[in-house]
Amino acid sequence: MVRQGMTSIKFTAAASLVTAALVTTATQAFAACQPPAAFPKWLQGFKQQAVAQGISPRTVSAALDGVTYDPATIAKDRGQGVFAQSFLQFSNRMVSSNRLQVGSSLLKKYAQTFARIQQEYGVPGPVLVAFWGLETDFGKVMGNMESIRSLATLSFDCRRPEKFSAELLDALRVIERGDLSPREMRGPAHGEVGQFQFQPSTYYNFAVDFDGDGRRDLIRSAPDSLASAANYLRSIGWQPNQPWLEQVRIPNDLPWDQADVTIKRPRLFWAKHGVTYLNGKPIPGDNVPVGLVLPMGRNGPAFLAYPNFDVYTEWNNSLIYSLTAAYYATRLAGGPPLAKGNGPVTVPSTAETKEIQQILAKRGFDVGKIDGVVGAATRNAIRANQIKYGLPADGYPSAELLNRLRSGR
Ligand code: CA
Repeated sequence: MVRQGMTSIKFTAAASLVTAALVTTATQAFAACQPPAAFPKWLQGFKQQAVAQGISPRTVSAALDGVTYDPATIAKDRGQGVFAQSFLQFSNRMVSSNRLQVGSSLLKKYAQTFARIQQEYGVPGPVLVAFWGLETDFGKVMGNMESIRSLATLSFDCRRPEKFSAELLDALRVIERGDLSPREMRGPAHGEVGQFQFQPSTYYNFAVDFDGDGRRDLIRSAPDSLASAANYLRSIGWQPNQPWLEQVRIPNDLPWDQADVTIKRPRLFWAKHGVTYLNGKPIPGDNVPVGLVLPMGRNGPAFLAYPNFDVYTEWNNSLIYSLTAAYYATRLAGGPPLAKGNGPVTVPSTAETKEIQQILAKRGFDVGKIDGVVGAATRNAIRANQIKYGLPADGYPSAELLNRLRSGR
C-alpha cells in the first residue's frame, strides 16, 4: 500500500511484491544527506519528543534503545528507479492463474469471516483477497527489514523527516497498545507492516481485532488483517453493494478526450456512444457516474471505473496497480478474463515515452517529471497534441504520436 504523491507506476516506497514486479533497485551507494554520526544525538532528542507526545518511557526505551542508522534503508529509498510496465504486462504477471486459484480457495476457506466482514464493513471478499494477493501473496511475503530502524533512519534523513517521524510515533503507539512488539515489526524499507502492508499510521488508526483475542495482529491473524483492510477501505470511501470496475467493449469512434479515470460521466453518456459489456449487452442508460479508462489507449482493454474505483487509487495511486487490483477482484467475483481490445497496441519503450515527454516539455507543456512514466500531466499534454494533430485523443503515447512529434511540427 503506497499513498504518497505519485502518479502512475512511480513508487518511492512500495510493498515488497510490487517492488519486485515494478521497480528496479539500483545498486550504487547513495550519499547520506545527514552525517550518520549525528544519528545517536538525533535519536536521543526523538525519544524525548516521543515521551512528550504521551508515549510511555518504557515503550520508547523498548523500541528505540540501541537502534542504529541503517544505510540499507537509505540505499533503497534513493535507489528505486522507475521501471515502466504496461498494464497488460503487469496484470498478466500479477493476476496469474495460480493467484486466481489460491484466491478462490481462500475465499472458500474464510467464507464465514468474509460474510461477517461484508456485513460489518460492506466490502466484498474478492476485493480484499485481491489486495491481499498483490500486497504480500496472501501474507507470505511481508518484507524482512526492521521497521523501527527503517522509520528512525528515514525520520533522521533530510528527505521527508516530518512524514516518517509521524509514522515512527504511530509505530510506537501500535507497540504501546500491545498489538505488536518492536521485534515483530518487519517489512519493506519504509515501515510498512503486515499482510496488507499498512503504514504505521494506518495500522494505528484502522486496525481492528476481528478474531477476538484482544490484539490487533496484522502479521499473524488473517481475520484481523482482512477486517482491518475492510475497515480502512470503508473509511476512505468504499460504498457497499456498488461495483468498482467492469470491462466493456468500445466502438472505433468515441469522444476520446472524455475517456479518463479523472472524468466521470453518467453511464448514459457512454451507452449512447455505443459502449457495451464484453458480450455485447448494452450498459444501463442511467445516471450512475463512471469513468471510461483505457490503460493502453483506444485499441487496448477498456473499463468502466465506478466511484469505488477511487478507493483503489487512494490505496495506491499507481493507475496500473489500481486497475490490476480491481480487475483481479472482478475475476475472483466471477467476471470475465481480460479482453485484448480492438486492435494491436504498440507499447512504447521507457525511452520512447521519455522522448515524448522531452519534446512536449520543450514545447511548453507540463508533463510532470520526465521519467518515462505516463501520469495525469503527461496524459493531458499528449491529449492536447493529439487534438492538434487530428489524432484520436486517447492520451496514449502511441508510435503515431511520437512520429508526428519527431517530425517537429
Ligand atoms: Ca486479534
